[in-house]
Amino acid sequence: MTRVLAVTNQKGGVGKTTTVVNVAASLVKLKQRVLLVDLDPQGNATTGSGIDKSSLTRTVYDVLLEQASVAEARVTSPSGNYHVLPANRELAGAEVELVNASEREFRLKNALQAVMQDYDVILIDCPPALNLLTVNGLAAAWRVIIPMQCEYYALEGLSDLVQTIRRVRSHLNTDLEIEGLLRTMLDPRNALAQQVSAQLEHHFGDKVYRTAIPRNVRLAEAPSHGMPALQYDPSSKGAVAYLKLTEEMLARFSASAA
Ligand code: ATP
Ligand code: MG
Repeated sequence: MTRVLAVTNQKGGVGKTTTVVNVAASLVKLKQRVLLVDLDPQGNATTGSGIDKSSLTRTVYDVLLEQASVAEARVTSPSGNYHVLPANRELAGAEVELVNASEREFRLKNALQAVMQDYDVILIDCPPALNLLTVNGLAAAWRVIIPMQCEYYALEGLSDLVQTIRRVRSHLNTDLEIEGLLRTMLDPRNALAQQVSAQLEHHFGDKVYRTAIPRNVRLAEAPSHGMPALQYDPSSKGAVAYLKLTEEMLARFSASAA
């Protein structure tokens, strides 16, 4: 079965894209067939995978507007060896253009059906908003991964997100569940971060991945070279943490399948 995971948090800059790119590369290393769907007009996951946004003839935008299939629009990340359904600024127009379209929340879900058997895991990088693009991601997903920084306001935003997931579950995707909460950019010397991290574990228990991602400059540098950290500096703390997280994810999949 293909695991379709939406990586989402309407809060900006929490590590969604860094997570998607580095988990994709780690999954490939662990022999999984991976598609990364870039659902953000910023196109950061596209660039971070080593793909030149300006050279694209077809993108996820064309797929959402039913002008291209996923098979026609996907490209291979030269640095990460996974497939990418890429995005660029054009995607920002999709929301308006789909306003009166039929099945507008299901455009991504419907398009992915044709390539499902090509992949073990499909990772969807959502934009920092609870908009139609994110709803397309959530409607297409099997489960949701929520990256978050352990700071005071993180918990506030989380309740809005949990509400949105509930609404999507009741209207669009009955089986949608949270797969895991991921602590990102964790600084072990920051007392507040430790406190919030403990609170998260208390509230969400096993939903919180045991593996937390530390703040690590290599993770921030790698995208400017168009590479996942696993290629840029495989021994860096960040690359190692994402590989460990990915092993934990795969172990959870097999546990939930059993
Ligand atoms: P947006 O909401 O804009 O899409 P995002 O949630 O996708 O943002 P990222 O782009 O992954 O977040 O990360 C935000 C910034 O923090 C980027 O500059 C990224 O390189 C950096 N960053 C992410 N994770 C880490 C980390 N663990 N250590 C250091 N820097 C990080
Ligand atoms: Mg992003």
